[in-house]
Amino acid sequence: MKSRTKVVVIGGGIAGCSTLYHLTQEGWSDVVLVERDELTSGTTWHSAAQVTNFGMNQTMVGLKSHSIALYKKLRDDPEYPVGYHHGDGGIRLANTEAQMQGYRHFASMARGMGVEFEVIDAAECARRHPLISTTNLLGGLWDGQDGDIDPAQLCQALAFHARKAGAEVYRNTPVTGLTQHKDDTWTVHTQQGDIDCDIVVNACGYRVNEVGAMMGVQHPVASMEHQYFVTEDIPAIAQAGHRMPLLRCPISDYYCRQEKNGLLVGFYEQGCKTWGMDGISPNFSNDLCPDDLDRIMDVLEGAFKRMPALAEAGIKRVVNGPITYTIDGAPLVGPIPGKRNAFCIIGLRAGLGEGGGHGWLLAQQIVHGEACYDTWVIDPRRFTGHATVELTSRKAIEDYQNEFRFHFPHEHRPAGRHAKTTSLTPVFAAEGAEFTVVNGWERIDYIKPSPDFHTTLGFSFDEAFDVVAAEVANVATNVGLTEVNGFNRIEITGADRHAFLDRMICGAVPRRVGRLSLGYLLNNHGCIKSEATLANLPASDRGPERVWYGAAAASEYHDMDWLSAHVKAGEDVQLRSLTNDQTILVLAGPKARAVLSGCARGDWSAEAFPWLSVRECCIGFAPATVMGVSFSGELAYEIHVPNASLYAAYLALRQAGHDYGLRLFGARAVESMRMEKGFLHWKAELNTEFDPFETGLARFVKLDKSDFIGKEALQKRRSLGPKRKLVTLSLKTNHAPARSGASLLRDNKVVGTITSGDYGHRVGMNLAYAFVDAELAHTGAIIELDLCGQRVETQIIDPSPYDPTFARMRG
Ligand SMILES: Cc1cc2nc3c(=O)[nH]c(=O)nc-3n(C[C@H](O)[C@H](O)[C@H](O)COP(=O)(O)OP(=O)(O)OC[C@H]3O[C@@H](n4cnc5c(N)ncnc54)[C@H](O)[C@@H]3O)c2cc1C
Repeated sequence: MKSRTKVVVIGGGIAGCSTLYHLTQEGWSDVVLVERDELTSGTTWHSAAQVTNFGMNQTMVGLKSHSIALYKKLRDDPEYPVGYHHGDGGIRLANTEAQMQGYRHFASMARGMGVEFEVIDAAECARRHPLISTTNLLGGLWDGQDGDIDPAQLCQALAFHARKAGAEVYRNTPVTGLTQHKDDTWTVHTQQGDIDCDIVVNACGYRVNEVGAMMGVQHPVASMEHQYFVTEDIPAIAQAGHRMPLLRCPISDYYCRQEKNGLLVGFYEQGCKTWGMDGISPNFSNDLCPDDLDRIMDVLEGAFKRMPALAEAGIKRVVNGPITYTIDGAPLVGPIPGKRNAFCIIGLRAGLGEGGGHGWLLAQQIVHGEACYDTWVIDPRRFTGHATVELTSRKAIEDYQNEFRFHFPHEHRPAGRHAKTTSLTPVFAAEGAEFTVVNGWERIDYIKPSPDFHTTLGFSFDEAFDVVAAEVANVATNVGLTEVNGFNRIEITGADRHAFLDRMICGAVPRRVGRLSLGYLLNNHGCIKSEATLANLPASDRGPERVWYGAAAASEYHDMDWLSAHVKAGEDVQLRSLTNDQTILVLAGPKARAVLSGCARGDWSAEAFPWLSVRECCIGFAPATVMGVSFSGELAYEIHVPNASLYAAYLALRQAGHDYGLRLFGARAVESMRMEKGFLHWKAELNTEFDPFETGLARFVKLDKSDFIGKEALQKRRSLGPKRKLVTLSLKTNHAPARSGASLLRDNKVVGTITSGDYGHRVGMNLAYAFVDAELAHTGAIIELDLCGQRVETQIIDPSPYDPTFARMRG
C-alpha cells in the first residue's frame, strides 16, 4: 500500500469508483481508493440501477448525459464490457394537466443540453408500453435515453480503467481515522496502515457520517429503507418482441423495468422508514434489510391497476436496502463546508444514473477548482446551520413519499419548516403572510388577502398575481416594509481588509468610511463566483473601522470558505459571520425617507445621506445600521438590526409609517421589481459559467487594477470574445412567466437559455433574463421561447425598463 498519494477516495461504490476514474481522466494518476470491504458492498450491489436522462435543471441533465455516454462507451469496450440495456426508453407518467405542463417545461429545458424528451398522450404511452392501461392517465414524458446497467460490472470497469491509468484500489481497508495537518494535508488512518495525502474524498454512502465524524463534520444525509421485487417471467413480455420501456409513476409511487422476462418493481410507500439513524452495525456489508412487503401494499394496488399482468406474476426475489437522501433530494458533491482539501460525493439516491456524471463534475472541481457546469444545485455548501441529520430525515421521508412528484414553482413542502425564523415570523403570520423559504429562513412571499386564500401549483401565473401587483403598487406610490432575514453578512476587520478585498473583487473597492459599493468576486477561470455589497463602517462603540460584506443568504458557507481560503499568512484580516446575529428590514418607496426620518434621529436628506451611504443609528431606540441601497428601484433603505432588537425596530417603523400608507410586501414583489430594474440574482444570472462581460457587468470590472483573482483568465476570455450574453426579454404573452432553464430558439435551434422570468407590474411587461448567443444579443432581436411546449415570441429590450436613469433610487 502506498504511504503517500495525492488523493484518497474513501468508499468503493459507484460514487467512489466514478470519482477515482474521472480523476485519472482529468490527468491525476497518483490517486487511491480505499474500501472497507469489497467494491460495491454498500448500496451499489443491489441497486435497481436505472439510468435516466431526466433532470430538473440543466446541470442534472448534463451530468446524466455524461453518465449515459460513459456507460455506452464502457458497454462497447471489448476489454471490459459492461451489461447496459439502453435505447428502449422510459415513460414518466402523469394524470394531471399541471404535471404535463411541468414535463413540457422540463423538455424545453433539456433541449438546451442537447437532450430531446417527448411529451406523449395516454394512448401513445400504452402503444409504447403494451403492459399498461390508460385508466386515469393523461400521458407522460418519454426519455429515449432511459435504461439500466449492471451496477457491479460498472464499478469494476471504472476501477479497472482507473487502475490502468495509474490509480490504486485497496479493498478490505477500512478507514478508521483522519488527521488534518497544519499545511491542510491529511493522513488517512486505515486498518492496513496510514496514507498521507493532499486531498480526501468522502464517498461512503450510508456510512457517510461515520467518516464525517472522523473530521468533525455531520453531513445532512439520512438513509431510507427502499424495496423492490423481481417477478417470475411474464408471458406478454417474452412475446412482445422488444424490451419494455421503463416506467416511473407519480400517481401511485413506483418504478418498473424489465428484468430478464419478468419485471423489477420498486416502491415509494407512504408508510416509509428511515434507516440507521441510531447507528449502523459494523457487520452490515453486502447486506440487506429484512423484507417488509406489508409496507408497500398501498402502492402495489396502484401498480397492479396500471399493469394487470403484474398481478398474475409470482415474486421471485425481494430486495430491501438503504438509500441515502439529503434535504432537497439532490446529492452533496463538492467541497466540504468549513474544511480545506476535503470533498464529498454523498447523499446519492439515484447514484447509478447520476454517479458517472457526479464523479466527473467532482473530479473537475478537485483538479481545476471548478467544473464545466455551475454545480450549485449539488454543492454541499447550499445547506447551512439548520441542516441537521434530524431535519434531513424529515425531508427524506417527505421526499420519498413524493419521489416522482417534482416541486412546482413556489412550492415549499411542509416538512422541516420554520428551521430558521426571527421574532417577526409569527408577527408576519398574524398579518396573513404566506412564506417562502431561503436557505432555511422563512421569508414573506406575499400577504394573503384573506385567511383562506391559496394558490394553485402550476407553471402559469397563479392567483397571487394581483396580490403581488398591489404590493408593488404600494411600494411604487407610498412605502413598503419587508424583512430579508438570513442575508449573508460577514464582518471584515484588520488593517489589511481593503487590500484583501481589492484582491478578491474585480472592480473598485472604495475605502471611504460611510460609503458602500457593489463588487463581484471571480474564480480562477475569470467567471463569477459571488456578488457582494461592501459597506465601510466607522469606528464606534460597536467596533473598530470595519467592512460589512453582504451577499445572498444562500452563499453563507460558500462565500466564507472562499474568502477565508484567500487570506494570506501574516495578513491582518479577520472574518466573522454575522448572518445569524443580524437581520434586515427593507423600507422601500418614495415615502421611505419620511418614514425613516420619523423614527431615527439625524438628517436623512439626499444631500446628507445620498444613495450608497451607510450610517449607524437607532430606529426608535433599537441599534441599527442603515444602508442606502435598493433592489426594488425605488428610494429604499436596508435597515440592519441585531436579531434581539428586531421587534422593537419593527414597531418603530410601523408606527412611523402609519400616516404614509406603509404596508408589508414580500419576496414575489421584490422579484418582479428587480427584474424591471435589471438587477441580477446569484446562481440565476450570476454563475460560474459566465464572466462579468458576458453578464453585462463590464462597469464593475477594473482591468487596469494591479491584480485580482481571475484577472489573467478574464483577460484571456475577453480576447476570445463572448459566446453568450445576458439580455432582457419581453414576452408576447401574459399567461405564464418564462421559467429558468427554458430554451430560446431560432430556426428550431437552441440559441439561449432563460435564467429568470417574472411579470413587471410597474412596466406592464412579462419580462425574462436569458443568456443568448452573442451574435443575437442586440436590442430589438426577436427570439422564440419554448414556454412549456408553446412557441412564444420574445424581443430583446434594453435592461432596466423601469426608470432607466435610476432617478427614483437616488430619491
Ligand atoms: C433498492 C434500491 C434500488 C435502487 N435503485 C436505483 C436505480 O434504479 N437507479 C439509481 O440510479 N439508483 C438506485 N438506487 C440508489 C443507488 O444504488 C445509490 O445511490 C448508490 O448505489 C450509492 O452509491 P454510493 O457509492 O454513494 O454508496 P455505496 O454503494 O453504499 O458505497 C459506499 C462505500 O463506502 C464504503 N465505506 C463506508 N465506510 C467506509 C470506511 N470507513 N472505509 C472505507 N470504505 C468505507 C462502503 O463499504 C461502500 O462500499 C437504489 C438503491 C436501493 C437501495
